This record gives sequence, C-alpha cells and structure tokens, in this order.
Amino acid sequence: MSRFLNEQYRAVEAYTPGEQPRDMQYIKLNTNESPYPPAPSVAAAITKEEVEQLRLYSDPTAKKLKESLAGLYGVKPEMIFLSNGSDEVLNFAFMAFGGHGAVFPDISYGFYEVFADLYGINSEMIPLEDDFSVDYRKYCGKNKLVVIANPNAPTGMTIPVWQIEEIVRTNPETVVLIDEAYVDFGGETCLPLVEKYENLLVTRTFSKSRCLAGGRLGYAFASPALIADLEKIKYSTNPYNINRLTLLLGEKTVEAESYYQEKCREIAETRQWSTQRFVELGFAVLPSKANFIFVKTEEIDGGDLYRKLKARGVLVRHFTNSRICQYNRITIGTREQMEALIDTVKEVLYENQ
Ligand code: PMP
Repeated sequence: MSRFLNEQYRAVEAYTPGEQPRDMQYIKLNTNESPYPPAPSVAAAITKEEVEQLRLYSDPTAKKLKESLAGLYGVKPEMIFLSNGSDEVLNFAFMAFGGHGAVFPDISYGFYEVFADLYGINSEMIPLEDDFSVDYRKYCGKNKLVVIANPNAPTGMTIPVWQIEEIVRTNPETVVLIDEAYVDFGGETCLPLVEKYENLLVTRTFSKSRCLAGGRLGYAFASPALIADLEKIKYSTNPYNINRLTLLLGEKTVEAESYYQEKCREIAETRQWSTQRFVELGFAVLPSKANFIFVKTEEIDGGDLYRKLKARGVLVRHFTNSRICQYNRITIGTREQMEALIDTVKEVLYENQ
C-alpha cells in the first residue's frame, strides 16, 4: 500500500477471486465456469469486420441487447440493466442503495462484504441455519439493503419465491437484491415479482449458464426507476462499460437460447450423477440447484482434500472460513471430468487410510 491511498480504502480487504492457474492443465472445477463452449453461432460472430469496428465506442445504451433480452424474458427494455459481469451491477447496487446499511447471510458470495466495506456501509451478516438454509423471517422488516443469492453460493441451496416475496413486501423502504447468478440450473426465478414491487432488483450473469465468463456480461431486472438509478451510476463512472464484442456475443447468445437450455439440462444431470457418486463414497452433499456441489466427508480434512486433488491436477474451491472449512465447492464439469474427479477422490481417500 502506498501512502497516497485514501484513508477510507486502507482497511478494505479486497475480494480474492478463485485461482486461474497458468502453470499446468487442471481439470478446472473451482470457479463455476461452464465446461462447454459458447454456441457455434456465438463464436462465428467475431469476424475481422467486427474487430475492425473496435475503433468505435460501443453503444452505451446497449439498445439491441436490451431489446433481445426483453423479448426473451417478457419485460420492457427499460426494466433491464447491463453490466460488465454481474459483479459490476452488484457494485453499483451497493453504491446506489446501501445508504441504510446492508444485510446478507454469513455464508454467501464473498464479494457482498467487500462492496459494503468499500462504500463504508454497515453490514449485518445473518448466520445461515445449521442446515445452511436461509430463514427468510430474519430478513423481513430490516429496512436495509437486503442481498440474497438464490441459489446461494457456495451451498447451492435455494429459498422459495414466496419467501422472497415476503422479504420484498416487508422492506418497502429499501432495495432487496436477489442474485440469480445460478438460477438457470434448476432454481426458481423471482423475475415475475419485479412487475409488482418497485424495490426488487434481480441480478443475472452470462458467466455461468451462458458459457461466457471471459466475456464479462451481467444484467439485472427491476422497476424502471431502479434501473434509471443504476444507469445514473453507470454514466457517472463508465458509460461504455460493455465492449462492442461482448455486446455482439450477448446478442448472439440470446438467439441461441435452445443450445444453452440443453447445456443447463446436461449440467443438472451431471450434478445428479456426481451427487450420487459422492454420497456412495460417504460424503455429505448439500442439495444444490446450481452448477456446483458443496461436499464434505469425515474421512479427510477439507483443506487436505483440496490440496491433494490439486497436486493430482484437479482444482476445486476451498474456503477457510471456520464454518465451512471442512467442505469443498466443486463446479459441475462434463461427465468425463466428473468421472476423473471421482477416480481422483477415491485415490486420495485410499491413500489417506
Ligand atoms: N454472484 C454470485 C453468487 C457469484 O458466485 C458470482 C461469480 N463469482 C457472481 C455473482 C459474479 O459473476 P460475474 O461477475 O462473472 O457475472
């Protein structure tokens, strides 16, 4: 840290993203990317002509992509916000709506706490129940920015939409942000509620179910007034927040909807297959509706399993937080990758005996 850094940022502990190693080829199951490439029509969209167009700025209104998404999800374009990854819309939401403080579960996406710290927002972290479920009653009537990932990460567990509605209904003076980064793998969306409640913000991403993590594209649904607030923040920080190529890839992605639905189905099937294998090996596996599972066993310490898998070329995600340090979060890859993972887990357990 230099002596020039502004006082308010000195104590902020930055978010640590999952490893993106370059040292060897891993079976990479640590950052919830899709194991599948984007649809062929998406790859084909990057032509020499499109690259040459990069001399021009991108459309700051992202009109075409907003209209495509509006058509796909049956909402008005003015109820959609587009961002550079959904991390950016989360960032803007904390900046815009965190003035009364923020509340989120103790075990959830680690970035929520970082954004709260960055903006000097008082954050309250409500412990998940012993079974890692969210007790929705604890978020009712808080009068703070409420942030809940549904499905939650790293557990993969969901909260029913009627409970979300109760939270939204009982916090009429503040924004309730539902992070649906993983909803396409079997969760239930609360999108229909945005027509009914002006304080609901639903965030989504192209990074997981749309196989586009490296393209950095996120979006959000909300009432036109909330979207206008987010646009204000965007135009006050980075009007061209999404580059031309990513906007194009986003449009092509929306057109290839059936390809992505098929991939989501495959991932849900592989999740079920993988869950069964882990259960057979004596692991506890939380009930996941996401593209990852959260597993632990009495046989081996969570950190040891992570390190031994890594040494054998399989990368999963381990968190050191004492409540979950016995677990590992494992992204659902292809069936072949998961078979290799299971074989490697067996090797590690055998060696550990
Ligand atoms: N929300 C959750 C719950 C996540 O796990 C992630 C991925 N790390 C994000 C949001 C952000 O993803 P992206 O910025 O790639 O859209």
